[in-house]
Amino acid sequence: MKRREKNLTINNETKLFAILGYPIKHSFSPLMQNAWFKKENLNCAYMSFETEPKKLKKTIEAVKVLGFCGINITIPHKTSIMKFLDHTDKASKFIGSVNTIVIKNGRLCGYNTDHLGFSADLISKNVKIKEKTVFIFGAGGAARAVIYSAKSGGAKKIYLANRTYKTAAKLAKEFKIEAIRADDIPEKIAKSDLIINASACGMKKTDTLPFKINILKEDAVIYDLIYNKPTPFMKAAKEHKIKFYTGEGMLINQGACGFKIWTGIYPDVKSAIKLLNKFMR
Ligand code: NAP
Repeated sequence: MKRREKNLTINNETKLFAILGYPIKHSFSPLMQNAWFKKENLNCAYMSFETEPKKLKKTIEAVKVLGFCGINITIPHKTSIMKFLDHTDKASKFIGSVNTIVIKNGRLCGYNTDHLGFSADLISKNVKIKEKTVFIFGAGGAARAVIYSAKSGGAKKIYLANRTYKTAAKLAKEFKIEAIRADDIPEKIAKSDLIINASACGMKKTDTLPFKINILKEDAVIYDLIYNKPTPFMKAAKEHKIKFYTGEGMLINQGACGFKIWTGIYPDVKSAIKLLNKFMR
């Protein structure tokens, strides 16, 4: 990747990147990725394009024609994008979604960095997953990435619960893990080392914690993928002095993993966390 001349902004050599989603206005990615390009002195620019589902195919053709080098994909296109790609990596196939694309010589190669970002954040926080018992809430796209990460990280046992049990049962079968019915949550969660909220529980004010916090092991760790509001998981963990992390580290590290795929450089995660906190204020 060519370095940018000092004080130069965009020119004919600028490499283009973007994120496609619908809606997209709330996305932190342009701020974060452009800050990293600047910090690494790379002649690159990152934009966001609001892309209605029915316009996804045309938008992908357009970014290809315009010579974009890389694209991030967010809600609701992470799965539907896959049919337009020339290649997807092993993890994307398992997880069933792509959030990072490299465009080279007219070919589109898709990756999933959600699981990489989650794993990288656990490592940075020294939260061990190898040989541990992990309890995951949720059975949507984020849960799939987290299950993949827990499996590839060598978890001893993975339990999965979801608001709709049927969806958890289907996903558990696919990933060869154990689906847990609401009545059985207490018994299994009491044995768990790492409890992960990969569901949208907590996005609504009326949401409640799906278990009693006092049954957790004293040294259990809770990780809530939600990073932009105080959730029941966060509040209960604070009250009962349980170690707790939000998903901000996952969000930043998934972006950092994409940046590394595009540029070969793992960018400064700490500065991005500061930027995210400012952005959310
Ligand atoms: P998704 O595919 O739409 O799945 C949503 C999941 O949450 C489903 O399992 C759904 O259960 C469950 N759910 C929805 N509302 C609920 C509620 N009120 N109470 C309990 N469960 C509820 O979404 P996703 O992409 O997996 O995202 C899940 C969460 O993770 C979101 O809050 C998202 O913001 C967060 N996330 C964070 C990061 C990060 O980098 N930190 C990355 C991805 C996602 P049903 O099957 O019953 O509908």
